Amino acid sequence: MIIALVLLGCGLALASCGQHLIQPVTAPARPPLWGMVTWLVAEVSAVSCWMLGGLLLAWPELLIPDELREFFAACIPFLRQTVSSPYWTMHVIGVGVTCAAATRLLWCLTTTLVDTGRRRSRHAEAVRLVGRTNPSLACVVVDEGPAIAYTVPGRPPLVVLTRATLRLLPPEQLAAVLVHERTHLAEYHHIPTDLARGLARAFRLPLFAVGAATVPALLEMRADEAAARQHGRRTVAAALLSLAGERTTQPAAFPGGAPITTRLHRLLTAPKPWSTWLRTHGQPLLYSLTVGLGPYCTAAVFLILAAGIHLVVCPDPGTA
Ligand SMILES: [Zn+2]
Repeated sequence: MIIALVLLGCGLALASCGQHLIQPVTAPARPPLWGMVTWLVAEVSAVSCWMLGGLLLAWPELLIPDELREFFAACIPFLRQTVSSPYWTMHVIGVGVTCAAATRLLWCLTTTLVDTGRRRSRHAEAVRLVGRTNPSLACVVVDEGPAIAYTVPGRPPLVVLTRATLRLLPPEQLAAVLVHERTHLAEYHHIPTDLARGLARAFRLPLFAVGAATVPALLEMRADEAAARQHGRRTVAAALLSLAGERTTQPAAFPGGAPITTRLHRLLTAPKPWSTWLRTHGQPLLYSLTVGLGPYCTAAVFLILAAGIHLVVCPDPGTA
């Protein structure tokens, strides 16, 4: 029961305060992919803590190896004598927690994916209707609207530009924007984005709410990096500035909501030399492991403590 409560508590603590712990991984000097992975690992870890904690609360013998069960066997009659009545209450609460978390997660993820899929396919239909395919750029060009560029995932996926974008950007910047957009499609950026949104809809806690905005923002920066590798950081930054200058009532020239200043700062910061590879990748890896495995390590520490207390408090099997 102690392990179950520790897991439930760790899941709640991670969901309430984990965003402060992860924030450094999203700093401009860190690779955006690491930030996105760490964020999703933390969210999945929090949810899995609730589900596993609920299961262990309902069935304490679950997931405990035979040797450990034998070790604690002598303790069980002693515990039942001391705390007999809460057993069924804990069982019911445990089943309730696991079922509630699983049902809510499944429902919200499904509705998010279905709603988003429908909206995307309706939008793709409308774009095909009013736009025309530009074979040389492999995109759909829409005559109306301010200078924007975005993608619509689906079958087939679309890269959409307005005529104003073609007028505004010189060829090199336009090519950088197209690489940026195609990176979104090639790396399936809509999947982690939808997952983060579904989790935020399911669990209204700070980690999930901040994650729903941070994950798409980090993926924007990831696409910026891909474009910068082919066309140079300054070209991508210039395209970003041109499109941002044209922004009127549209939510974003490069959709995604990442602050332009943050993206420009990341683009124009000199790439880290090889000597700082460990700092750039090692630290985010450490953060991912901490938020992913931290709750389970804490539960393991409590298991060891419980074994120690058992040895001291519970009667010796020989004398019981
Ligand atoms: Zn983008």
